[in-house]
Amino acid sequence: MKLTTKISRIMACSGMLLAIGIAVSGIRAQEGATKQHVIAIENMDRSVKPGDDFFVYANGGWLKRTEIPPDRSRYGVFSMLDQESNKRTAALIEEVAKSNAAPGSGTRKIADLYNSYIDEAGIEAKGLTPLKPHLDAIAAIKDKRELAFALGKTLRADVDALNNTNFHTPNLFGLWVAPGFGDSEHYAAYLLQGGLQMPDREYYLADSAHMREVRSKYEAHVAAMLKLAGFTDTEERAKRIVALEHAIAEKHWTLAEDQDIAKANNPWNQADFSAKAPGLDWSEYFRGAGLSKQATFVVWQPSAFTGESALVASESLEAWKDWLAYHAIEAYAGVLPKALADERFAFFGKEMTGAMQQTPRWQRGVFVVNGFLGDEVGKIYAQRYFPPEAKARAQQMVANLIVAFHKRIDALTWMDPKTKAEAQAKLDSLYVGVGYPETWKDYSGYEVKADDIFGNVWRGRLFDYEKDVARLGKAVDRKEWSMEPQTVNAVNLPLQNALSFPAAILQPPFFDAKAPDAVNYGAIGTIIGHEISHTFDTEGSTFDSKGRLRNWWTDADLKHFEEATARLAAQYDAYKPFPDLAVNGKQTLPENIADVAGLSDAYDAYHVALGGKTAPEQDGFTGDQQFFIAFGQNWAEKDREAALRQQIMTNEHAPDQYRADTVRNIDAWYGAFDVKPGEKLYLAAGERVRIW
Ligand SMILES: [Zn+2]
Repeated sequence: MKLTTKISRIMACSGMLLAIGIAVSGIRAQEGATKQHVIAIENMDRSVKPGDDFFVYANGGWLKRTEIPPDRSRYGVFSMLDQESNKRTAALIEEVAKSNAAPGSGTRKIADLYNSYIDEAGIEAKGLTPLKPHLDAIAAIKDKRELAFALGKTLRADVDALNNTNFHTPNLFGLWVAPGFGDSEHYAAYLLQGGLQMPDREYYLADSAHMREVRSKYEAHVAAMLKLAGFTDTEERAKRIVALEHAIAEKHWTLAEDQDIAKANNPWNQADFSAKAPGLDWSEYFRGAGLSKQATFVVWQPSAFTGESALVASESLEAWKDWLAYHAIEAYAGVLPKALADERFAFFGKEMTGAMQQTPRWQRGVFVVNGFLGDEVGKIYAQRYFPPEAKARAQQMVANLIVAFHKRIDALTWMDPKTKAEAQAKLDSLYVGVGYPETWKDYSGYEVKADDIFGNVWRGRLFDYEKDVARLGKAVDRKEWSMEPQTVNAVNLPLQNALSFPAAILQPPFFDAKAPDAVNYGAIGTIIGHEISHTFDTEGSTFDSKGRLRNWWTDADLKHFEEATARLAAQYDAYKPFPDLAVNGKQTLPENIADVAGLSDAYDAYHVALGGKTAPEQDGFTGDQQFFIAFGQNWAEKDREAALRQQIMTNEHAPDQYRADTVRNIDAWYGAFDVKPGEKLYLAAGERVRIW
C-alpha cells in the first residue's frame, strides 16, 4: 500500500520471471572491510550553495560523471546496491551448485532450480512439450461450468495489498492471505481483481496517441505469442483476447481506489458471491481453487468482481478459452524456448519499460531462485554478509529512533492525550526485524528437479499458494517477514504492526557498523525513521496498536493532521521538473510525510547517540553537516525523461531530488549550512512543515 511498503517501489523488480528491470553494469566496488564508510566528498558539488540546491550540492559530482547504462531507464544508489546483492547471491548459488549437496536438502534445491533455469539447451530441446498438457486441458473445456473450474485452478497467491503492494495479477482474480482487518490475530483470505496482462487498466482505456500505439503493438504481440505456441487464426484470436481484456479493464478499479482501505473492507460469505456477482459458477470456481471450505473472503474491489463475473457469462466460451491459453503461454514464456521469451521481452521489456536489452540469463536465474527459495538463499546470505556486530549496531539505532519518536509524540501540542496514548502503545508494540527473520520458511514440501524448469516454476507457484491456503484461519505470526534478507529495500507491515530492514539495505552507503554516527543516522537512520513514521501516516493510522482496522483518532486530531499535511502537499505541488508537468503533492503525500518525519526522528536519535559530545569532523564538515549530506546522498539517482514522467504520473514517491530537498523543513539544517533568506530552498520558520 501507498502507506509505505517500499522506500522506492520503482526500484523493486517484482516480476521475477519477467526479470526485465535490472541489468548488469556499473558494478559498484565492494567496500573493503577495513575501510570506514564516510560521506562521499567526490560525489558532491561544493560550487553549489546547499541552500539553493541541496540535491546537487550532495550529489553533483556523481551526477556529472555517471551515465545511465543503455539498458536501464534509471540509475542510482538503490540500483547499484541491488546489483551488488544480486552478484553476491549469484556467487552463493554457484558455490552451492558445486557443493553436490544431498538430494532433497535446501542447498540442493537452490542448485537444481538455478541449473534448470540456465540450461537453455535443455529448454530448447523440450520445446513446447511441457506446456502442451495445459493447453490441451484448456482446449477440452466444454462449457461455462468447466470454464469456472479451470479459472479457479489458476488462482494463486500472487497479489499483496498492503505489504509489498502488488495489485496486479494476470489471472482472473488473485488471493492474498494476511491478518484479518477485524481480527489481526488470524489469517484471512483477501480476493483482488485481475485478468489483465498489461500492468494497469490505464493501458487499455487511456485515450492518448501513445497509449493507442501501445495497444496496437500489444495486439500484434498477442498474435505473435499464439503463433509461436502453434495456434492458427492468431490475428482473430488476438483481437478477441484484447477485446476481452479491454472489457475487464473497464470493470477494474484505479490504483488510487485500490489504495483506499476504507473501500476495501467487504467481507463476503461464499453464498454472497452468486448473489452479488452473478455470472461465474462460483462453487465450481472455489472447487477449482481448493477453497470450497473457506466460509468468508474480503473482496477488495466488489464492483470489479460483479463486472468480471458477469463477463464470464456474457462473453463467448471461445474467447475465454483463447484468453486462458494466451495467459498460460505468457505465464511460462520465461521458461519456454528462446523465441517465446524474446517475444515477451520485446513487448513487456522494450516497449513497456524502455529497456534496450534483456537481463542476462544468470541474473534472471537469481530472480527465480530468490522468488521460490528466497529464505533458503537468505539464510546463507545473512550468515555471510550480516555479522552479529552489524545487527547489534543496527538494532541499537532502531532503539534510539523509537525512543526519539516517543519523545516527539509526547511533545506534540495538537494531539489529544487519548490519541497520544494509543500512538505510544502502537510504538511500544511495533516489531522491528533487522537483517533477517527469526525463523526461516520451510521448503520441504517444494519438489525441485534438476532438469525440469517448467515443472519447478509450476510447482513453486502451487507450493506458495497451497501453503497460504493451508494457514487460513490459523494464528498469525507477527514476526514473519514478507521480504528476503538479500533484498535492497525496507517495508512496513501494517496488519502486523511490524517493520523489516533486510541485510541487503544494511550496508554501505546506507549503513556500516564502523561508520560514524552522523553518517549512519543520516543515511539508514532516516530510512528507519521513514518506515516508523508510516505507522502514523494517513493510512497507517487507520490501524491500531494490535494491527486492527479501527479509527482511534479524535476528529480534532485528524483535522489538525490534515491541515498540516495539506501545506506539505502544496510545497510539492510547486515542484516542476518539466514545464508541462508538476509533482502531484497529494499522490505523494504519505511518502513525503514519512520523509520529513523520518529525517526529524533520525536527527533527534543522532543527538541521543552523541550524548552531548561534539562529533568528529570529516574533511572540515561538522557532525550535523555530515548527517544531512549523508541523507542527501541516499537519493543520488538519474532518470531518463520518459521514466521520470511516468513516475510523476503513476508513482506514490516524489522524484529523488525533491526527497533530498526536504531538508528545508528541518530547523537544524538551516543552522548546519547557514542557509539564508533569498536562497532557493529557504523557508521562513513558519512555512516549514512539522508533522511528527
Ligand atoms: Zn515510504
